Amino acid sequence: MAERTLFHKIRDREIPATVVYEDDDVLAFKDIHPKAPTHLLFIAKKDADFVPSIDDLSEKTAHVPLLLIRKAQQFAKEHDISGYQLRFHVGKGGGQEVFYLHLHFLSEQKID
Ligand code: 5GP
Repeated sequence: MAERTLFHKIRDREIPATVVYEDDDVLAFKDIHPKAPTHLLFIAKKDADFVPSIDDLSEKTAHVPLLLIRKAQQFAKEHDISGYQLRFHVGKGGGQEVFYLHLHFLSEQKID
C-alpha cells in the first residue's frame, strides 16, 4: 500500500484543518499558507479515487480531476464567487509537495 500522506491524515481527521465543504466523494479545506484571500484545497475522499499526482492518472482514476473541478465550480456558485483560479501542481518540479492529488482553488474574493 502507498504511504499515507498529510492529506490522508486531514481526510481521516488525524490532523486538524478548516473544512469548508464535504460530501461522500470530496473534502475541501483551507490551505494553511494561503496565497490569496480564499485559498482552498479540494481532494477526493475514497481510497479507490486516490492518486498521488496528475502524472499518475490511469483509466481507473481519470475521472478524479473532473470530479474536483466540478465540486470547485459548485462551491464557487454557492458562495457567489465569480472569479477564481484552479491549479494542479504536478511533480516536484511543478511545485507539488503533497503527493495526494489536490486542486488549488484561489480567489481574491473572500468566503464568509
Ligand atoms: P502542493 O504544493 O503540493 O500543490 O500544495 C500543498 C499545499 O498544502 C500547500 O499550498 C501548503 O500550503 C498546504 N499545506 C501544507 N501543510 C498543510 C497543513 O498541515 N494543513 C493545510 N490545511 N494545508 C497544508
